[in-house]
Amino acid sequence: MAILLRRRDFAPLHTSCAHPACQRELTGGAWFLDHDGDVRTFHTICAQETMGYPSFQEQRRHVPDLTTHDHSHRDVDAMDVIVSEGDEAPCTKSMGERRRQNALNYLALRCSTLAELPHIHPVVGADASLHEIHGSYVTRGSLIAGEISTVLDIEGTAQQASPLLARNNLMNVYTAYYQLKCKRRDIAFHRIDAMACPLPNPVAQEKRVAMLDASLSFMDSISRQLLRKLCLTPKQLFRLNLSLPVDAFPPRMVYASRSWGRGLAM
Ligand SMILES: [Zn+2]
Repeated sequence: MAILLRRRDFAPLHTSCAHPACQRELTGGAWFLDHDGDVRTFHTICAQETMGYPSFQEQRRHVPDLTTHDHSHRDVDAMDVIVSEGDEAPCTKSMGERRRQNALNYLALRCSTLAELPHIHPVVGADASLHEIHGSYVTRGSLIAGEISTVLDIEGTAQQASPLLARNNLMNVYTAYYQLKCKRRDIAFHRIDAMACPLPNPVAQEKRVAMLDASLSFMDSISRQLLRKLCLTPKQLFRLNLSLPVDAFPPRMVYASRSWGRGLAM
């Protein structure tokens, strides 16, 4: 049976690699493989072994990679990064390949991955032309040249309407959302520990749990705000200490976010 590569994306939290000989936990990016409708997540090496190297290398040219703005897991799975870049590092990609990758990523963000998150601003998933192309892509498994141009044209128009809808900004939003989920998971673990091993002083224990509960609420609130406004303020970025590209959420994004709604009749 054919195994189809669907995308490179953030692995759901607490997920292990589906390769029977591996089964290590996945952190950060993972490859999503579809085996007769059963989609599972793999490390790069494990995906290559499962699909066969030539098939993996061919198919990866035609799938989105939504993990490239995440700078927090590079050292954890260094082997993944090396193999994933392989003999064709991003900087050596031809213009045509870069255009295809950009179109694939933009389609995925606006038609499935980011667009389907709860609390996301509805404008993200509101472009009917993109959905039509996305439907053809899902059926065919690749984009034709005309579709790539149309997607990039739509991105250009959307970006003019608001920089919040630029591909780079949507990638930053998607990445920040994932990193916030990881941070929330860590706080939830601390809370479990705090309940399992309470402090001897009941007042101190109560304060400690209340602080952790407040942190959990803060993370939930920031995540909702991020998806609604498609932006974080410099103050929030500093406080959260996320690992994003250095130019993520510049002041012009914050300004655009404050005037959100005006000029976005899309
Ligand atoms: Zn693995």
